[in-house]
Amino acid sequence: MQKFCFSCGMPVGGKTAGPAENYCVYCTDDQGTLKARNEIRDGIGQWMQQWQGVDRETALKRAERYMAAMPAWAEQ
Ligand SMILES: [Zn+2]
Repeated sequence: MQKFCFSCGMPVGGKTAGPAENYCVYCTDDQGTLKARNEIRDGIGQWMQQWQGVDRETALKRAERYMAAMPAWAEQ
């Protein structure tokens, strides 16, 4: 069954599988600890900026909204 990262929603498996069971390799450090919320938001923001062609401020707002639906960040 396909697993998705609880933090960023990326499919987890093969190259994107990291030390933590529920997160992709990009969202944790070498020990499998989830990175800081700001760091994840910046990463998703960068991805949205490139993918959607919006400015950084808009991309970060969209990243915030996107993260609100993620299990790792929904409660914060
Ligand atoms: Zn992730």
